[in-house]
Amino acid sequence: VADVLSKSDRAKNMRAIRGKDTNPELMVRRYLHNMGYRYRLHDGSLPGKPDIVFASRRKVVFVNGCFWHSHSCRFGQVQPSTNAQFWSTKRSRTIERDLEQRLELERRGWTWFDLWECETRKDERWDELLEFLGPRLARGSATGKSEV
Ligand SMILES: [Zn+2]
Repeated sequence: VADVLSKSDRAKNMRAIRGKDTNPELMVRRYLHNMGYRYRLHDGSLPGKPDIVFASRRKVVFVNGCFWHSHSCRFGQVQPSTNAQFWSTKRSRTIERDLEQRLELERRGWTWFDLWECETRKDERWDELLEFLGPRLARGSATGKSEV
């Protein structure tokens, strides 16, 4: 596995993953794994049980469904005509809960990245995600002997 992927390798990687018609969270996980990142999943000890957790970086990634989490995009603003009240109550609770959980994460010194389902086709969001995470640890550089 190459430690340094060029931008075009990255795009190729991304296209291969997208082509597999999988759910957005799996897509993100597979992509980050292929890019050399390691993470935990659905950590219940953190507020909101974040989808992807980078403990040593104190960073988490949420992959959000647009409808459930009322994204500002056209998928998120759909108003179902049947059971309208039910959906609207359910979805406003989700919005409140999302907000509380993020505030609590922040209080504990964590940062987060929200990737919306509709954004999984936008190259620039994937780049932003990598920027948010920061560089992967170089292989073989951590011997544990450098600090005395
Ligand atoms: Zn959306």
